[in-house]
Amino acid sequence: MNKENFDVIVIGGGPSGLMASVSAAEHGAKVLLLDKGSKLGRKLAISGGGRCNVTNRADVEEIIKHIPGNGRFMYSPFSVFNNEDIISFFENLGIELKEEDRGRMFPVNDKAITVVRTLLERIDSLKVDVRTNTEVADVLYHDDRVEGVKLKNGEYITATNVIIAVGGKSVPHTGSTGDGYPWAKKAGHTVTDLYPTEVPITCNDKLIKDKTLQGLSLRDIELSVIDPKKKKGIVTHDGDMIFTHFGISGPAALRCSQYVVKARKKHKGKDVPLEVNLFPDKRGNDVIEDIDRFLKSEPKKAVKNALNGWVPDRMLTALFELSGVDPQLTQANVSKENIRDLANLAQHFPLSANGTLSIEKAFVTGGGVSVKEVQPKRMESKFKHGLFFCGEVLDLHGYTGGYNITVAFSTGYTAGRAAAMNLWEE
Ligand SMILES: Cc1cc2nc3c(=O)[nH]c(=O)nc-3n(C[C@H](O)[C@H](O)[C@H](O)COP(=O)(O)OP(=O)(O)OC[C@H]3O[C@@H](n4cnc5c(N)ncnc54)[C@H](O)[C@@H]3O)c2cc1C
Repeated sequence: MNKENFDVIVIGGGPSGLMASVSAAEHGAKVLLLDKGSKLGRKLAISGGGRCNVTNRADVEEIIKHIPGNGRFMYSPFSVFNNEDIISFFENLGIELKEEDRGRMFPVNDKAITVVRTLLERIDSLKVDVRTNTEVADVLYHDDRVEGVKLKNGEYITATNVIIAVGGKSVPHTGSTGDGYPWAKKAGHTVTDLYPTEVPITCNDKLIKDKTLQGLSLRDIELSVIDPKKKKGIVTHDGDMIFTHFGISGPAALRCSQYVVKARKKHKGKDVPLEVNLFPDKRGNDVIEDIDRFLKSEPKKAVKNALNGWVPDRMLTALFELSGVDPQLTQANVSKENIRDLANLAQHFPLSANGTLSIEKAFVTGGGVSVKEVQPKRMESKFKHGLFFCGEVLDLHGYTGGYNITVAFSTGYTAGRAAAMNLWEE
């Protein structure tokens, strides 16, 4: 075995591995960072639409609510390094950040690459040894300790601490190909079922299949996922959404997607009903009154034309088609029931989800290394001394909006610090 002496080996140069390297080196460890790609931070560079949503300004309680995948676990890593620490970290390195809607924080210049570059400069200044194009094939253990890693080229490198920061299985061209799960299993860890989250939803409605609504964006709507059996709402998310050629996407759809996956699993692949509320801030009667007002202002026109501007044009066509109300009626002969039907449909527009795109096409991987088997203030394995996990390889996932990157930075910093501390505790 190669006897190069590193205190800490970090596998993976995404946000969690980069931050783990910084933190371990800042706490005095000699660090080796390995990544199989030619560049570090590839996913980070495309995150937040290429602008990098580095974190979120909400308070910790609020952030945890936005991490539906084991968010409560994050209380401990946040006690070591939280969103405000992330903001200070980047501001101290000269990156000005700005806050956008829903507390989302971005670099002022809107360039993710600035964030990646700053992390790389910090790593360089801390003399972290970085090797790109270096794929780890295995993590080595001896009894209850980690011993080092084996590279794909056959080389062995020893270290008393190894941090697994290889991400999940989503968007594999960025290097996240699920390599960490077998290494975790070999150490005795449970890997919970993997599934796509923050992923577009596929629907089998006629209006989707015949592409009537394709490309139509809806702003500030509410989308609800309905239990297929109990017919009761499972979850509702507000925001924007867009109809695609296969179903729906956009922030509200992405947030609802994991509930579609879970409901389909629970109900053995049954389609999952969805409902769109075009007027989430209005009561049913208000919507009826709005329709009345439109019709009264154009009493001679066909209702379809009189309602021009009430909802987007193609949505209006869909509402008439689904409600069965004749669009050629005029105000004089449209019934109260017709109006009620249109209003009701505008607040309960039905869709039927028959799945999502694949885990590879998802923004985030749900499931992963069970957090129950990781010490939350250290991110160290409960089974192997010197073995750490951070970032998306863990069974932790948040909504888009900076929450996953916050998880990656926070768990990465916590793991790096604890790995360095091991050196002084031994
Ligand atoms: C398009 C897109 C947009 C996103 N936008 C947002 C957003 O706005 N907000 C948000 O919170 N989250 C967002 N995310 C999710 C977020 O980017 C990820 O959760 C985060 O990057 C995970 O960080 P990580 O360090 O755990 O893993 P990754 O970023 O996946 O990094 C893993 C690294 O490990 C390396 N690696 C893997 N296997 C090996 C091996 N065998 N040997 C050596 N190296 C290896 C890979 O090459 C890669 O560099 C987005 C994701 C995508 C795909």
